[in-house]
Amino acid sequence: RPKPTSRARLPSAKRPLPTSKEEMEVEDGEKCNGKLGHVAPGSVRTAADDAKGRPIKKNISLTALLLQAVTVPTQDVLPANPRILDEVDDLAQLSYLNEPSVLHNLQCRYSQDSIYSKAGPVLLSVNPFKNVHLYGDDIVTAYRKKLLDSPHVYAIADAAYNAMRADEVNQSIVISGESGAGKTETAKIAMQYLAALGGGNGGIESKVVQTSCILEAFGNAKTTRNNNSSRFGKLIEMNFNAAGKICGAKIQTFLLEKSRVVQLSEGERSYHIFYQLCSGVPSSLRGRLRLRSASEYKYLNQSECLQIPNIDDAQKFHHLMGALDSIRICKEDQEHAFEMLAAVLWLGNISFLVTDNQNHIEVVSDEAVTNAAGLMGCSEQDLILTMSTRRVRAGKDEVTKSLTLEQAIDTRDALAMFIYVSLFDWLVEQMNLSLSMGKDNMGRSINILDMYGFESHKKNSFEQFCINYADERLQQHFNKHLFKLEQEEYELDGIDWKRVDFEDNQDCVDLFEKTPIGFISILDELSNLPKATDLAFAAKLKHHFSTNRWFKGERGGTFSIRHHAGEVLYETGKFLEKNQDPIHSEIIELLSSCTGRLPQSFAALLKQSKNRGSASAQSGMSVCRKQSVATKFKGKLFKLIQHLDSTKQHFIRCIRPNNKQIPGAFEKDIALEQLRSCGILQVVRISKSGYPVRISHQEFTQRYVSLLGETKDCQDPLSLSIAILQKFGIVPEMYQVGYTKLYFRKSQIDVLEDVRKQVV
Ligand code: ADP
Ligand code: MG
Repeated sequence: RPKPTSRARLPSAKRPLPTSKEEMEVEDGEKCNGKLGHVAPGSVRTAADDAKGRPIKKNISLTALLLQAVTVPTQDVLPANPRILDEVDDLAQLSYLNEPSVLHNLQCRYSQDSIYSKAGPVLLSVNPFKNVHLYGDDIVTAYRKKLLDSPHVYAIADAAYNAMRADEVNQSIVISGESGAGKTETAKIAMQYLAALGGGNGGIESKVVQTSCILEAFGNAKTTRNNNSSRFGKLIEMNFNAAGKICGAKIQTFLLEKSRVVQLSEGERSYHIFYQLCSGVPSSLRGRLRLRSASEYKYLNQSECLQIPNIDDAQKFHHLMGALDSIRICKEDQEHAFEMLAAVLWLGNISFLVTDNQNHIEVVSDEAVTNAAGLMGCSEQDLILTMSTRRVRAGKDEVTKSLTLEQAIDTRDALAMFIYVSLFDWLVEQMNLSLSMGKDNMGRSINILDMYGFESHKKNSFEQFCINYADERLQQHFNKHLFKLEQEEYELDGIDWKRVDFEDNQDCVDLFEKTPIGFISILDELSNLPKATDLAFAAKLKHHFSTNRWFKGERGGTFSIRHHAGEVLYETGKFLEKNQDPIHSEIIELLSSCTGRLPQSFAALLKQSKNRGSASAQSGMSVCRKQSVATKFKGKLFKLIQHLDSTKQHFIRCIRPNNKQIPGAFEKDIALEQLRSCGILQVVRISKSGYPVRISHQEFTQRYVSLLGETKDCQDPLSLSIAILQKFGIVPEMYQVGYTKLYFRKSQIDVLEDVRKQVV
């Protein structure tokens, strides 16, 4: 893709600039006394370049452009909009719709802290990376009373709320965007608005808002892209009663990134809660939890990043305790949860001594073992045995085998991850119990979806594979609603419509989902073969997809996928294991033997899922086989999309304006990549030439036939419709007549409504 350039205001030059007359806009009275234009990406050539025959300059700065005459090929000059259209709040209002105009508009708005804009039906939100004065009670009231109508998350939440009440249809606010673009903040802002509107029913609304604090502490972490990156997806369903008050809520979460508990990349942190606990726990509890500072735990200190600038973990812990209180998790259970966290940290400090040349180990019996066992409530000896041995079948007998260093580390880490993920699920369950619907629920709800967004790191593994698959699936959903269904309706109803093309990612989604030859099926197939390796998985993908345009085979165990949001290089190391997610029977037995309430319930849940699946022998070792992680995730995504499709949807697209998380920096190329990847220009194009108001001939005639006065009984709805339109002088450019419906441009129907109101 070519790089974008700055918007170029072409100065009046001594020699005339080559311009395309039909396309260029003349702006009266402007200082530059000439024409306004944008230079297409990568096409600027200065007079000096011409003289020396230098290659075309890319990325010429705006200042440089203002100071010198430039020569550009005519076809690369794009028309700019007159100044009066600078900063319009809906991109559909731009007379000339091209990439530089859109970027210019968003940048101008961003510099005034107008972070929200409309792109036809989609709300764009450009992350300000600072506090902007766009929220709070007064502004909520202003939107509620329609005193303000500029684009805002509040306006979207308001529209959803009103539509839910008026049409009795469930609503969804679907928030998408790359990691760090502002999805989670946007979801919170929408929730706050709905809580303000639907409050006053026993304080449940404040509980709903408090859940964000708990979910973020346990499910968010600092990554290189976002200091508060959600490492799970979530759908929050807010339930309302007949009076429009919140009467309950339900949280559904998607695939928490569990490897983060045991392994960190440089500059990243584990889940916030660990640091919050280490620095904020009251001294009375610190002793009981045998806690040290974060820097003393290997799971935390491995990435040499313990703090986040401007974040006070101790203070956050204080807020967290308040939030746990507010959703009525009793002090005893809170302490149980903290014990589990401390146990995870101590597990990470357990070390091993290699005892022979076959790499067999012994567990170092130190304070880490004592503390982990003490916190879990199991015997030290049982913990040591679980970490160092495994029972295997030898014929009819079972023998105990020593583990190698690698196996022991994997077992230790598997136990730590299992405890953490189980704790996360337990917390979500507690929140759901606390928020469960009151009796007055009338079955209407507003869902808010905050899925993790596209990610590409230096190293991308199974976790990014799942995250980016989800992103691809949601983009496909976005495309279906904003491009496919919209245009199909016009075509099927036979109206005059020039199709707007868009980048369809259906083939990429198919690549993941198809059976038996798709990424996930192949991954499952190999995960079930005892001797298969990650390398074999990579080789099989290359064998099947080397000619596919979305796939690129790379060296050894790596491959790339050309996602709609960019190309990502995946390393297949541990793909099979992570997909299979094996939990050895010894771990379940250990947890069952614990005296603590939580470890026991974690083990019981696992046993249930084990019974649903099947126990099987692999490599002679006993493991519990469940549905694979990727297949389970795929199933959950299918259900999610189905659920969204049963509601009326409102789309918000978040844009990250720079990669450094700094306020005020709107980097056009970074923004443009994101606008392109979700096809925003095409969305606006369809909206500009589309017909947002649709009404069947029957409904239309029923509503307006009285305005005609005399009618013949035999007249069919279609001819009646046309007669009404003609009588009231609705010009033909403003509507289209389909086989079943009438299609109107925005606000045309208002003319008829006004007349109707006067008559009725
Ligand atoms: P995502 O969920 O898309 O990964 P986040 O919602 O976590 O991104 O946003 C990343 C960071 O950007 C937040 O921690 C916050 O600092 C900042 N941010 C996002 N949206 C806003 C906003 N509307 N106002 C102020 N800061 C914001
Ligand atoms: Mg997030």
